[in-house]
Amino acid sequence: MNNDLIGKRITIGGIVQGVGFRPFVYSLAINNQVNGWVRNTSAGVEIEVTGDPQKISDFIHEIRSNPPILSRIDQINIIDSDVIDYTKFEILVSQPEEGQFLPVSPDVSICPDCLRELFDPNDRRFRYPFINCTNCGPRFTIIRNIPYDRPNTTMSKFSMCEQCKKEYEDPLDRRFHAQPIACPQCGPQVWFEAQGKTLAKGEEAIQITRKWLAEGRIIAIKGLGGFHLTCDASHEHPVTELRRRKRRSDKPFAVMVFNENIARKHCILSNQEIQAITSKEKPIILCQRSSDSNIVEEVVPNLNTLGVMLPYTPLHYLLLEPAPGYPEVLIMTSGNLSEEPIAYSNSQAVETLSRLADGFLFHDREIHTRVDDSIIQVQEGHFYSIRRSRGYAPNPIVLSNPVPELLATGAGLKNTFCLTRENYAFVSHHIGDLENLETLSAFETSIHQYEQLFRIHPESIACDLHPEYLSTRYAENRSRDENLPLLRIQHHHAHLASCLAENHWSSDEPVIGICFDGTGFGTDGAIWGSEFLLGGFSGFDRKYHLKYIPLPGGDKATYHPSHIALAHLWAEGIEWANDLPPINQYSHSNLEILRQQLAQNINCPLTSSMGRFFDAAASLIGIRHSVNYEAQAAIELEALADPNENGTYEFSLEEGVINPNLLWKSIIEDIRAHISTPVISARFHNSITQMVITICDRIRSETGYHTTALSGGVWQNQYLLQQTVQKLEENGFTILQHSQIPTNDGGISLGQAMILAHSINK
Ligand code: ZN
Ligand code: ZN
Ligand code: FE
Repeated sequence: MNNDLIGKRITIGGIVQGVGFRPFVYSLAINNQVNGWVRNTSAGVEIEVTGDPQKISDFIHEIRSNPPILSRIDQINIIDSDVIDYTKFEILVSQPEEGQFLPVSPDVSICPDCLRELFDPNDRRFRYPFINCTNCGPRFTIIRNIPYDRPNTTMSKFSMCEQCKKEYEDPLDRRFHAQPIACPQCGPQVWFEAQGKTLAKGEEAIQITRKWLAEGRIIAIKGLGGFHLTCDASHEHPVTELRRRKRRSDKPFAVMVFNENIARKHCILSNQEIQAITSKEKPIILCQRSSDSNIVEEVVPNLNTLGVMLPYTPLHYLLLEPAPGYPEVLIMTSGNLSEEPIAYSNSQAVETLSRLADGFLFHDREIHTRVDDSIIQVQEGHFYSIRRSRGYAPNPIVLSNPVPELLATGAGLKNTFCLTRENYAFVSHHIGDLENLETLSAFETSIHQYEQLFRIHPESIACDLHPEYLSTRYAENRSRDENLPLLRIQHHHAHLASCLAENHWSSDEPVIGICFDGTGFGTDGAIWGSEFLLGGFSGFDRKYHLKYIPLPGGDKATYHPSHIALAHLWAEGIEWANDLPPINQYSHSNLEILRQQLAQNINCPLTSSMGRFFDAAASLIGIRHSVNYEAQAAIELEALADPNENGTYEFSLEEGVINPNLLWKSIIEDIRAHISTPVISARFHNSITQMVITICDRIRSETGYHTTALSGGVWQNQYLLQQTVQKLEENGFTILQHSQIPTNDGGISLGQAMILAHSINK
């Protein structure tokens, strides 16, 4: 035996299974002439090698510097081991260990190699809608349990043909251990149904789907994480028909196009947006619509933005493939009825979508976990996640310190939950608005799935302070049934903590949290939403907020910005004059009823909501008096703002309260002076930025703290966000903002988990 040889044992944690890690290690070992073995364990990948010191060092260097594209190394541990007389390098069978766990890869869009084969007439998988390999294909949506092996996925019912088996077992094949490996002979199939009858199978089913889409019909298509409702986006009839059937009046629809070049025809895309839209996650990108686009107005009423994505499965490529006379842009909206969760099983789709779709394109690869498409916005080189779901979940947020096993149940709207273990915070995919039984049951099922998949047994639970959120009720029930401690966390405190957590903030220094959103239950029982909180994970002081106004009808007022505008004017003693746009929405007697309701404080909870403040402004300026989707008035107000206008309106500050009296009076003066709505809208936005700077300045001079954290759904307003960030920077503040975790209530669960972890570790 050669005395110059050394032995090393290397253990690697992170996303290292189902991503081609072992064949990668195998090839490296062969190239570097080191012998030994590699195997999957329940905690990651384990390698043992014996060889020349320089060659082992090169081998380890390459593992670190050039791992497979889909992998993510979170930890790597190297220890000396015995020098063993291995004669070769081999891949050993998996070694499960009780209680161990590791992250699971999200689903990955089709890779360039598979795409080439998909359209190669000489390939045996030519036009096969389920082609995939070690670098691409379904992962999270098909996994039932770990370790990630075929019997633990919904592919278990398909037995591999000889050829697939050969590829699967060959370490040098690009499908080595690709668990969803399939081909037309042995894998899943598509078929087309209308009115309960199967009209076609395989390629013919794809052709009939395309024909029906070209004819203007609406088709329900089973994809990767659920069903989409699909139709031609360039003709008015199918789009308005889809709106009517889906009972969705104005909320924008997302679209899919075949490739980047077609996307550029319909949208104005920056280089970073191109990078995001073509990334392996293939999210929906919210971008500027091009004026040359033939996408009909009804796809995105009253907006200049468009949500667009590229195909992410082979099936989508076959459906979008350009052909003369074939629609270039297809609507791809969640297959659900209004706010219910997306349909994901064939039987459930028939049940819920039969009245919405003219036909169904089904397949028989079961979806174990449903996930919606993710949504991202890119501004000034910064990526903002708006909905974190397919392609991202269940990737954990890696924490700087280990935390106990915890569950945080999130907010009521745009719900996600969060489970923690060791250095990981598993923020769930987007669950939806917990306002109906279907979504609640999806929430409960998903919590169970994550707990099982990542072997988490929560020792404590966090929930929102709101007593009526269904996520709070669930937390209360589990806390009682399993005798677990429950911590109720104020909504905006959770927003602040979420922003700190994703920025890996570990200092004890308090931060100025600027938490602007629509609704969050306050510690005084009022509805908060324009909160300047000074604090961190361990607690907060509420420093400033908008003056409370009575919200006539409570949450229902959200649908009527005109109610909110009148309540604001009433609270300031400003006359409901006939020349103001919201007044014209009411008959004389209805105005009287509203006045009585406010004066006698009938069902008028108090609120400091910033979201409602935007609604009031939108109505006062005459942009919109009633809405049919969340934040519609504010979104349209932002869309109108004139970027060249620098004017502002004044707020006054008194003992922690922001008084908008002067602002409302100035807006009314501008309306009467016939100043254009884009100018008034810009001035309104500028005023909020100015107010933020003034208040942060005050807090800084009182306390010396200069780090700010922006969180809450209002920060999805890019006009407001970009200029506020710029002004804060100019004024010497440090700024923490969201990126991979949504600034909206989708981020609440992470904040709750971190506050709970902090309270336990103390
Ligand atoms: Zn592939
Ligand atoms: Zn096969
Ligand atoms: Fe919120």
